[in-house]
Amino acid sequence: MSHSLKPGVVSGKDLQTLITACKEGGYALPAVNVTGTNSLNAVLEAARDNNADVIIQLSNGGAEFFAGKGMGDSFKAKVLGAVSAAKHVHLLAEHYGVCVVLHTDHANKKLVPWVEAMLDHGEEFYKETGKPLFSSHMVDLSEEDIDYNLSECARLLERMVKIDMSIEIELGVTGGEEDGVGSDDIDNDKLYTQPSECLQAYEKLAPIGHFSLAASFGNVHGVYKPGNVKLRPDILKNSQALVQETHGTDHNPLDLVFHGGSGSEKEKIEESLGYGVFKMNIDTDTQFAFAEPVGAFVKEHPVAFEHQIDPETGEPQKKLYDPRKWLRLAEQGMVERLGEAFIDLKSKGKSIAKKECCQGKSSCAA
Ligand SMILES: [Zn+2]
Repeated sequence: MSHSLKPGVVSGKDLQTLITACKEGGYALPAVNVTGTNSLNAVLEAARDNNADVIIQLSNGGAEFFAGKGMGDSFKAKVLGAVSAAKHVHLLAEHYGVCVVLHTDHANKKLVPWVEAMLDHGEEFYKETGKPLFSSHMVDLSEEDIDYNLSECARLLERMVKIDMSIEIELGVTGGEEDGVGSDDIDNDKLYTQPSECLQAYEKLAPIGHFSLAASFGNVHGVYKPGNVKLRPDILKNSQALVQETHGTDHNPLDLVFHGGSGSEKEKIEESLGYGVFKMNIDTDTQFAFAEPVGAFVKEHPVAFEHQIDPETGEPQKKLYDPRKWLRLAEQGMVERLGEAFIDLKSKGKSIAKKECCQGKSSCAA
């Protein structure tokens, strides 16, 4: 079946259409953490260049940085930074001609008030525009017991569905650490979600509204030496099968999310795509891709980063230290790395956004 949507931020039914297109097409969208307009615009540019839809997300720390690390009130900055980033995307996304999902990353128990404060803004925005500010928020209570995890997520989802939003939840623990959420020293078996827990989540949340599920199958945040944890995508397969058998649903009923995609083996990524993974988070690799060209540039032009005028030649260095020069290189580094991600996730060329040329016309072949 072919699907198409208007370019811009997608939510509600349109988000489900986009997820269905991913799952039917056997591809996933990269979910890229951004911390400012440079990284954010780089994601939009990369999506446009690759004719792919994309997910833009902010961690609580990324949102705080977006508002300004020096703002003072850290909680307020986390909320307003997220709101500011979202409004930036609402204004620009359609002009890049692709579909964009707007999302926030891990919120543990301590950060539930952050999610609730963003929902206050989201409800306000919905009143004004008929659209939610974010397509979805993640609520990660995987460190709590499962009954608490699911009932708290159910409570928040009840509020979200009223403004056409989805929730992302987590079961089991993703290894590594992301912005202070998570830990390095957890039992190995906790790194693997049980299919019975996925079934429990489906039974609790599906009747309320749309949810996606970050199940742990040995995935780890960040890039570490390989060998410590084994990726086991069969856990995803078994979870899908259990829900399908128990409730007689269609194939791959769960909308799955792959956390800790940076540095993962490409064959395992590919295997997980067949099991209903529509979203893969990427942060560590794009951070490095943003930083690396800047490092090379500074190394190549050390004088420009110490003197406004070269003390030996008398040459002004303004053209080199102008932030637009080296920040653009950072953006381009990120765009290039995301090009690889779209290929790995098989989403390159798969945007379902209707192009400018054919909007409203059924005769267009583009
Ligand atoms: Zn994560």
